[in-house]
Amino acid sequence: MSDHSPYANLVRASQEIAVLGSCASLLGWDEQTYMPRGGAEHRSAQMSLLAGMVHEKATDPRIGDWLSQAESQPIATKPDSVEAVNVREWRRSYDRSTKLPRRLVEELAKATSLGQQTWVEARQAQKYAQFQPAFETILHLKREEAACLGTGSGDYDALLDDYEPGVKAADLAPLFETLRQGLVPLIVAIADAPRKPDATVLERDYPVDRQQIFGELMAANFGFDFERGRLDVTAHPFCTDIGPGDCRITTRYNPKDFSDAFFGILHETGHALYEQGLNPAHHGTPMGQSVSLGVHESQSRLWENAVGRSRPFWKYAFPQAKRVFRDALHEVELDRFLFAINEVRPSLIRVQADEVTYSLHIIIRFELERALLAGDLAPGDLPGAWTEKYQSYLNVTPANDAEGCLQDIHWSAGLFGYFPTYTLGNVFAAQLFDKASRDLGDLPDQLERGEFSGLLGWLRKNIHQHGKRWWSDELITRAAGTRPDPQPFLNSLRTKFGELYGV
Ligand code: ZN
Repeated sequence: MSDHSPYANLVRASQEIAVLGSCASLLGWDEQTYMPRGGAEHRSAQMSLLAGMVHEKATDPRIGDWLSQAESQPIATKPDSVEAVNVREWRRSYDRSTKLPRRLVEELAKATSLGQQTWVEARQAQKYAQFQPAFETILHLKREEAACLGTGSGDYDALLDDYEPGVKAADLAPLFETLRQGLVPLIVAIADAPRKPDATVLERDYPVDRQQIFGELMAANFGFDFERGRLDVTAHPFCTDIGPGDCRITTRYNPKDFSDAFFGILHETGHALYEQGLNPAHHGTPMGQSVSLGVHESQSRLWENAVGRSRPFWKYAFPQAKRVFRDALHEVELDRFLFAINEVRPSLIRVQADEVTYSLHIIIRFELERALLAGDLAPGDLPGAWTEKYQSYLNVTPANDAEGCLQDIHWSAGLFGYFPTYTLGNVFAAQLFDKASRDLGDLPDQLERGEFSGLLGWLRKNIHQHGKRWWSDELITRAAGTRPDPQPFLNSLRTKFGELYGV
């Protein structure tokens, strides 16, 4: 006899929504990889039908009834228990989706779909003015969304909460300020350093088939399970989880560039290891889902940077790289290669930024989107404000809007409050890597021997298996032993780049 308790009903509803959502994920993966251009129109019909079905299921009034009943039962009173966590998270998403009027959801879907098209054209034309009317509409609707979900139209926290539950702008502002004050002098010191890397070694001939083999090999060494995942080619790399046993990562190859594909693969592998490390018994419920974008990004950054750009890792991997890329690397020494993959250069484009300058790109966006939402910055003044901040934080000036405020797709897609999670990821990653190093004792030696299972096991135990049990603040505090704190990240940068650049 099947269980018809409110909790069991909620589990079934949640699993159905997850299955429907995973169909959309698979279609989305296909759209970005193999779909012929001619399929676009029908694909958008498939996607919007699925999105409507998911929304209908997620806002079914019976879910509200089952939630009220489940909340009054003792099963949900022990806060860390599987049941209590699931009920808490279902309540959260049910309230979020039912607080938004259907008209607003539809208007936002339309405005962001149009906004992204307009953004593509405006970026090509390098003219923000072309995008501004669409952007004003999106901003207006996002302010309305913030008012529905939070305390008012300027409530940044209400939007941030969708990506990083529990974190507030008031927590981020001082954390980012500490980062900025630590990063700026380091960047200045690096710029004045007598030693400079020779990044041209990364721009030699790197045949695409060999890049693929080398990338797959290292992803597999880290622990990516190719029985339960794939690596394919796309224009804008991503990782998508289809379900237990099926996690897909993507990259793009350039035969004259080693870094783009390789570090992209390591980055997406980090995301995938998190998805592959979730408990399959909880699939389709919050206990079987990743907790936040910041924690997700901590996993990708940890494998990409803390491991993938470290000396111990390359002591292991460089001899192999030399054999695979004989023509490009035959006379290159480890030190020269290591310096090249860790070049620091203040730049205009966020996605090409190095480990040291990256966070400043995020801080700029955080400050600007907060001001836009609060009404302190008029959309017409965005390009000027953008340029001013790039000059003051990074000492660079965009030549046009495409290099400036039109470079990211996020705002055109209505993603406000999303950017800070990238930097939180770097901050969390450093805290976790520090603690894992202390707990494991000989982590650098393990990496040098090409042994990654100790580190992966530590992450599985302390992060992956917990799903949404604790939000990022508590999860990181429990795993790292300290609250979210930018110092370990700053320390790791000072140590690593101090050695490389001799500053
Ligand atoms: Zn990422």
